[in-house]
Amino acid sequence: KPSIVWFRDDLRVKDHPALRAAVDDGAAVVLYILDEESPGIRPLGSAASWWLYHSLTALREELDALGIPLLLRRGPAEDIVRKTATAIGAGALFWNRRYGEAERTVDAGIKAWAREAGLHVESFQASLLHEPWEVTAKTGGQYKVFTPFWRALSAQDFREPLAAPATGHGYTGELPAYDGLDSLRLLPTKPDWSGGLAEAWTPGPRAAHRRLAEFVDGGLAEYKDGRDRPDRDGSSGLSPHLRWGELSPFEVWHAVGSRRSESAAVFASELGWREFCWHQYFHNPQLATANLRTEFDRFPWAWPDAAGHGGAADGSAVELRAWQQGRTGFPLVDAGQRQLWHTGWMHNRVRMVAASFLVKNLGIHWQLGEQWFWDTLVDADPASNPANWQWVAGSGADASPFFRIFNPEAQRTKFDPHGKYIARWIPEFGTPDYPEEIVDLKTTRQEALDAYKGLRERL
Ligand code: FAD
Repeated sequence: KPSIVWFRDDLRVKDHPALRAAVDDGAAVVLYILDEESPGIRPLGSAASWWLYHSLTALREELDALGIPLLLRRGPAEDIVRKTATAIGAGALFWNRRYGEAERTVDAGIKAWAREAGLHVESFQASLLHEPWEVTAKTGGQYKVFTPFWRALSAQDFREPLAAPATGHGYTGELPAYDGLDSLRLLPTKPDWSGGLAEAWTPGPRAAHRRLAEFVDGGLAEYKDGRDRPDRDGSSGLSPHLRWGELSPFEVWHAVGSRRSESAAVFASELGWREFCWHQYFHNPQLATANLRTEFDRFPWAWPDAAGHGGAADGSAVELRAWQQGRTGFPLVDAGQRQLWHTGWMHNRVRMVAASFLVKNLGIHWQLGEQWFWDTLVDADPASNPANWQWVAGSGADASPFFRIFNPEAQRTKFDPHGKYIARWIPEFGTPDYPEEIVDLKTTRQEALDAYKGLRERL
């Protein structure tokens, strides 16, 4: 009887425990479902959909080489998994675990059905270095602060990555007709804005491993300082590959060797932030829609939140649009937003500055920024994106204090000292074509601090 391996955000054949278990068990069939219909599942943003299309193309090539068929389907997962298992007479079902509440509910439903139907069903840890329920704070439950979380986690040794399975384990029997990749409707049609993404990225595990190897041999040595420099490409650029599971965190962890140098330790702790975001998301499924610090529910935003609550709605829409389009008159913010629009990625330092500017200088709710990033980032994930937005906004569990407000001009001088990054993304900078500053930094900073002070006083 064939075994079904249900692939989700783990689009690789190396270090894929569920795939390994399936080929050990018998003849494997891989199933991928684009599920945007099950309750509570957040539909993908546009840039992420573009990435997924190309990542699935690359995955199909890798599976073809192993002789393992890939079935694609769009729709509610529970229904599709059941029907597929029944149609091919599957004897077993394997997957790597996921951590969102809605996703886990779907998985639990399928597990219960499969057990009842007499199928062997088994899930594995593959996408995180830790299982969020296994690492608990001294008081029990979730860690709220990064440093002790990472101290506890990084003291462990993580398992070595698994090799890809050998060829000859694919199911060769009759299979029902499934969807073609194009019918998943993942690519933009008109206008096709994806040219810049294609210039900047090659999705898929092969390109991911190449990038990892280049980083380990090159940028890693300078990472500790280089990571903060948007003008130098000083970070690894691995985030979309990790987001889509083209690389596993175990592969990255072992390739980097966290104890080899100070830079390697700093890099490993960034992987730790990824873990921490998922830890928070697991414990707070409403991370993208609810302030973790509830006093922020009463923050006097200039613009309502995503659900339309609060806010003075006094023309901030114009400001939100200027921010999205990189026309605020603050070059570091604008360069970042243009980099994002063009390539689907923004440097971390610039993400922090652009986010702080939206929330604190424009007084716009962090959820509107989170949604924009969700739609435009190729690495947008349901844990890291809202967790980082809440961190910047000051409303998160382990947030940067609200009164720490980035000055985009000071940040520009410090992290792009020769203006290279600005010149790359804003060719008209310094000419009359470049927009004037849409707000006064000093006044808006004071307004944000006053609003925050008012919030504290009302507690
Ligand atoms: P590197 O510096 O090379 O880091 C290596 C890896 O560590 C990254 O690939 C990523 O997987 C992880 N990592 C690094 N920093 C963080 C962090 N702060 N939080 C979580 N993981 C981290 N990252 C995402 O992967 N998806 C998102 O949706 C996302 N949204 C963000 C939104 C905001 C407002 C901010 C400030 C940051 C966000 N980040 C997000 C975190 C970070 O900016 C990116 O992970 C990083 O820029 C990716 O580039 P890199 O791979 O070169 O990073």
